[in-house]
Amino acid sequence: MSQLARTCAITDLDQAVDDALARHGADPSRLLQILIATQERLDWLPPRAVTRLAAALGLSRARVEGVVGFYSFLYSRPVGRYRVLFADNIVEEMQGAPALMRRLCERLWIEPGKVSEDGLVSVDATSCIGMGDQGPSALVNGVTITGLDEKRIDALAELIRDQISLESWPRQFFSVADNIRRRDILLNDRLAPGEALRRAVAMGADALLAQVKAANLRGRGGAGFATAQKWTSCKEAPTPDGGGRVIVCNADEGEPGTFKDRVLLTRFADHVFEGMTLAALATGASKGFLYLRGEYRYLRDHLEEVLARRRESGLLGRGILGAAGFDFDIDIHLGAGAYICGEETALIESLEGKRGTPRIRPPFPATRGYLGRPTSVNNVETLALVTMIAARGGEWFAQIGTKLSTGTKLLSVSGDCAAPGVYEFPFGVTIAEVLDACGALDTQGVQLGGAAGMTLAPHEFRRRVAFEDAPTAGALMVFDRSRDMFAVARNFVHFFAHESCGFCTPCRVGTALLRDCLDKLQDRHGSPLDLVEIDRLDRLLQTTSHCGLGQAAANPVLDGLRNFRAAYDARMPNQEFQPAFNLDAALARARQLTGRDDASAHFSERRS
Ligand code: SF4
Repeated sequence: MSQLARTCAITDLDQAVDDALARHGADPSRLLQILIATQERLDWLPPRAVTRLAAALGLSRARVEGVVGFYSFLYSRPVGRYRVLFADNIVEEMQGAPALMRRLCERLWIEPGKVSEDGLVSVDATSCIGMGDQGPSALVNGVTITGLDEKRIDALAELIRDQISLESWPRQFFSVADNIRRRDILLNDRLAPGEALRRAVAMGADALLAQVKAANLRGRGGAGFATAQKWTSCKEAPTPDGGGRVIVCNADEGEPGTFKDRVLLTRFADHVFEGMTLAALATGASKGFLYLRGEYRYLRDHLEEVLARRRESGLLGRGILGAAGFDFDIDIHLGAGAYICGEETALIESLEGKRGTPRIRPPFPATRGYLGRPTSVNNVETLALVTMIAARGGEWFAQIGTKLSTGTKLLSVSGDCAAPGVYEFPFGVTIAEVLDACGALDTQGVQLGGAAGMTLAPHEFRRRVAFEDAPTAGALMVFDRSRDMFAVARNFVHFFAHESCGFCTPCRVGTALLRDCLDKLQDRHGSPLDLVEIDRLDRLLQTTSHCGLGQAAANPVLDGLRNFRAAYDARMPNQEFQPAFNLDAALARARQLTGRDDASAHFSERRS
């Protein structure tokens, strides 16, 4: 590179950093957003950019590097100018994603996980991107592409080879369908923006909280914590620095197989933002964040437009709807590919510009959250339902569903069924009824609640979707009898090993050992002793992991062994223990480098 070109590159690089700082302010809590904005200009984060950012923010270089290294979508090494990431969740694997990825690599003459020599393209896999109802899917430079098939892959390869900019690619590549299949109170709702808020302002904060309590609304993120109780804790907690309380909408919908928040944010964004504003009214919060998963960045402009409209209509900002002292506004904070940030304390760490490592609790976020302030973190669906409760009353809502699980639940249905998509059912619906509605035939198993959920067999299909029976944040994956339930569990175990944040040793090491055990079984080197090892690892993970990820990591295997044992037995031709490490296979690279493949270059038991 000539000195002139190099000087220009450095100038561009510095300018990109400075622009990102100017846009977000030299505020360390905005670090993640600043890094994302810088990378949007440079494709990756060169060392010089990291140094410049660290100096400008008054942070150590190691701290900034630590954040860059934590998030899958931040790159500390050059990547292709076109970055293709195929979703590798089990449903998309069933739909043929691995073969399509291989096809694209062949067309582009590259290896998965590598950057082409000319720096044009890189192709790799990523965790579920929330398109299980319309896969196989991929992200290209962070933008979602759905409905991949061989024809589309070939077209994609050509567009990349011809270096056509994404703006000129066929629009249909980027279309994301809603696939709403069943509507109930929420998805049928036609409330006008501000209608619920006007009613709530008229009744007052205490009456609003009483309505949410009367509704017995429980969080839709999976844990089912009472929303009114969380808000009450937040409202009553002191704000030591006078910085005000905070409302966070958790739109980091990362559980494999779930996508219902995507649809709510697309079609019901006003309900969600109004729910946040109602939460602010009830708790006295002045600041709101919508934490949007990086995979849904295509929704950012749409959401910003809705926010701008709401500000113009007096539904956000100072003195909302003319109520003196009711000041509240919302920022969108983009994630960068870290499943663990769906955990509320990890999400808060990420909001503060740090690695998304779960915090030790207590204190709980409701009393000490974002920057030490009382913070209520609520799910997208929960907040949309709050809007309906404010408009129609808590008692009306409490009549729907079951006694302990009131209202409706959105389910993201994918896999072997005629009509994948979003279904809204009153709580208490049976798995069998959902399978019937989505046109699932000859179902062998259902994964409810994503990788961390439960794997159900047909004798459990009378179970009810409800906190008191079969709880779920919304994912429901269907597997018919042609599917290998061992492969299902193995996919989830790989997912956990990849997504472990590494903070605690039992999870960091335990999930990797669990993955290796399943790989060993897959290679038919396993024996019943490996199942004993899996059981031991599960106890270790459950008792010593810091957060739910580690605690749930073995669930898919344990459920699989309980319900689909034959799929595991078929992979254990040996009853005797075999070591997991294959010395002969490990020497393959050495043989390749030395050009030897004769018998004496191979390890054999006879010579051991
Ligand atoms: Fe991180 Fe796993 Fe520990 Fe959770 S259990 S904090 S994901 S290492």
